[in-house]
Amino acid sequence: MSTASTSASAALLDRARRVTPGGVNSPVRAFRGVGGTPRFIASAKGPWMTDVDGNEYVDLICSWGPMILGHAHPDVERAVSEAASKGFSFGTPSENEVALAEEIVRRVEPVEQVRLVSSGTEATMSALRLARGFTGRTKVVKFAGCYHGHVDALLAQAGSGVATFALPDSAGVPESNAHDTIVLPYNDIPALQAAFVEHGDEIACVITEASPGNMGVVPPAEGFTAALRRVTRDHGALLISDEVMTGFRCSQAGWFGLEGPQGDGVPDLFTFGKVMGGGFPAAAFGGRADIMSRLAPDGPVYQAGTLSGNPVATAAGLATLQGCTPDVYGRLEVAARAIAAAASEELDKAGVPHVVQWAGSMFSVFFRDRPVRNYDDAKAQDTEAFGRFFHGMLDQGVHLPPSAYEAWFVSASHDDAAVSKVIDALPGAVRAVTEG
Ligand code: PMP
Repeated sequence: MSTASTSASAALLDRARRVTPGGVNSPVRAFRGVGGTPRFIASAKGPWMTDVDGNEYVDLICSWGPMILGHAHPDVERAVSEAASKGFSFGTPSENEVALAEEIVRRVEPVEQVRLVSSGTEATMSALRLARGFTGRTKVVKFAGCYHGHVDALLAQAGSGVATFALPDSAGVPESNAHDTIVLPYNDIPALQAAFVEHGDEIACVITEASPGNMGVVPPAEGFTAALRRVTRDHGALLISDEVMTGFRCSQAGWFGLEGPQGDGVPDLFTFGKVMGGGFPAAAFGGRADIMSRLAPDGPVYQAGTLSGNPVATAAGLATLQGCTPDVYGRLEVAARAIAAAASEELDKAGVPHVVQWAGSMFSVFFRDRPVRNYDDAKAQDTEAFGRFFHGMLDQGVHLPPSAYEAWFVSASHDDAAVSKVIDALPGAVRAVTEG
């Protein structure tokens, strides 16, 4: 169907493969789940990306979440240029880090202190170490289909790329490293209770995506977050809410801002990334001050980083968070709802089974006829149908995430022109699904 040339992208992929495994620096970018040539992007502005062959796309990846204001937003660009003009990295404390930490603490009520790091992976890895250091226990509970970055102990049955490639786990993680990880089905309160009956006094923490987005969007069922809080508290374990994806995207205070305290409390620790870096490498973990105070230099749990709190990255993050006004969240909602409704209508017309699931303005379209409550359900979707749909959209200038196990992201710059372009592409993409 496509008339677009991809020869420059294909040539770059060839070059890249010689010097980089798979030609990419993060696996899902390689299009292995959907086939075809990944597009090498040359530039992006607002909701649009342009590849090295000159093809234009409406971007529904948004860098997997961070670009909530759209690409190269003028306020963020200004903040970055100004920060960069003053030096790139000092290795000393600087003011931007304080301002970004204050902004996070101000927004997410249970977070009293944060430590800044450079990636979501670092944030979850550090939060895990802190939970173990604080409780003096070793076991961690995670949920199948949740992805918390490529932390050894958390790769078991992870979502995102691990799901896209149907990897059982990752090679290179020693059994000794993974055997303290208990993997449970998501949204299954009896399984959670049973794990705590058996191992309650050995479990340092439960880590969960605040509302999972890495097996596609699978929000917590009614009562699940409350059960997590109750069970962890009853057994003296910590609850870590991973808001790397949902943080500052689902609302000003992330998923927590939508869901609020559940049952008898709030998570002990949170992890953040993506939006709070505005497209630059900045992430964070934070929570109760009595727990955070166990970190070096005040406490015995070591954690550090040469580029942590980098002045340019924190300037980008701060400008992005400051730009996240109520109007921005309103626009995300309007754009996302319009796209999802049109996709659903077009699929319905063609009789293609599907469900749309939501977390704030984050959503996924699953090619499956029943709701997706956990990883097993997510794996039961028709990923080949998704692949045909993905290419149908791509051929018409709409770049979806190249995996059936991801959320679709919009930005506040997704205006009526961008949304119309997505909607206009749907009939052709649905034909690609039905005609195989
Ligand atoms: N946690 C969650 C919920 C994520 O979605 C991701 C990344 N997609 C991570 C952690 C890891 O973040 P990073 O890729 O920045 O290491």
